[in-house]
Amino acid sequence: MTEDQHESHPGTRGSAIVVGASLAGLMSALTLSRIGMRVTMLERSTRKVRTGAALPVSDGLLERLTGRRPGRGAAVVPSGAQAWADVHASLRAAVEADPRISHRSPARVTDVGQDRRSAWAVTDDGESHHADLVVGADGHASVVRRHTIPEAPDATFSGYVIWLGLIDEREIRSRPWSSDLAILYERDYCLNAYYLPGADGSVSPGRRRLGWGWYDSGRNDLLRKCGAVVDDIVQRSLRSADIPDATFDELADEAREIWPNPWREVILECISRREVIGTPIGEYLPRRLVSGRVCLVGDAAHLPSPMTGSGFSASAQDALALAEALDGKGNRSSIPEALRRYEARRLDPARQLVHSGQGFSHSFAPRGAAQ
Ligand SMILES: Cc1cc2nc3c(=O)[nH]c(=O)nc-3n(C[C@H](O)[C@H](O)[C@H](O)COP(=O)(O)OP(=O)(O)OC[C@H]3O[C@@H](n4cnc5c(N)ncnc54)[C@H](O)[C@@H]3O)c2cc1C
Repeated sequence: MTEDQHESHPGTRGSAIVVGASLAGLMSALTLSRIGMRVTMLERSTRKVRTGAALPVSDGLLERLTGRRPGRGAAVVPSGAQAWADVHASLRAAVEADPRISHRSPARVTDVGQDRRSAWAVTDDGESHHADLVVGADGHASVVRRHTIPEAPDATFSGYVIWLGLIDEREIRSRPWSSDLAILYERDYCLNAYYLPGADGSVSPGRRRLGWGWYDSGRNDLLRKCGAVVDDIVQRSLRSADIPDATFDELADEAREIWPNPWREVILECISRREVIGTPIGEYLPRRLVSGRVCLVGDAAHLPSPMTGSGFSASAQDALALAEALDGKGNRSSIPEALRRYEARRLDPARQLVHSGQGFSHSFAPRGAAQ
């Protein structure tokens, strides 16, 4: 399609395309709806699992995103440390209840474009979706970033993987840990382990879940061999089926030697069930967040090491700042100006966050992706 054809496309006033319907995309859709925009979400995947990752959720998050107090029976996002999948489910329920937001999945975006009057995303079925702006919430390997920052489109592999698992406390015999969070260093490893509410939301001892993330810079050959990392770029996570038995055996042997209970038992149980995923870590230090009518939020915009524990709250700040910058600026021609205000508000904090994670990464995996 030519630029002229796009320019004459009707009916895109007060509308946004959000590419990616994970946490940053869901939160951005909710804040844009709150200021009266019609939002179309395009998500490539129908599957949602991030086993084990825990997110810090602040009080009243959904109220701030939607500007509404939750009514009876409405979705709420519980505060405190929450399992990734639970936060996703709550935000997804809020989006589904919002008549201004439509959600298309599977819909893989292959290209993004813009002209003076509109922006668009093209999906792999060849369809073009037009709006006043496109928001890239498409994560670490963002397609929208390629359009927005073509000279620096890729996040860089940081030289380590995190093995992640999650298990119900009822399955564990060991005595509980003395606090809700453990950060342990042994040999060349780091273990973040934490209690999360049970699947029913219970925080009572014996009814919670235990999650863990084992930082490991010693298995980069495996990541490359499996194609999870190619050159310096993270391509995908390793599912259990991708992880060789020999690697599971090595991890189990090491867990027996170095990690204390209950984490040792938890890790061994996840390994024996083959309920572990390996996420190679990438980082991206942004130099911009915006190009004309296209902007980036969440991990597409700024990818910090998970060790910062702040990627989720930064994504929430993006969603709130974006809506604030656009609020009341219904005129199409003012969208690029509003997005520049969004960038002025979020770029420095995003850079500081990524820098702080790089401090950890450089000490944990000093040779980085070269290993
Ligand atoms: C192992 C791990 C542990 C973490 N721990 C923490 C923590 O303790 N605390 C914290 O605050 N944060 C943590 N984070 C970070 C946090 O999860 C993210 O910052 C936050 O969830 C925002 O992610 P996102 O929605 O921007 O990206 P993603 O979750 O990557 O979502 C991107 C979405 O876009 C979709 N998509 C991608 N490409 C396309 C395309 N071309 N077309 C359509 N859809 C597309 C994907 O399918 C996906 O649904 C962790 C992350 C990881 C990986």
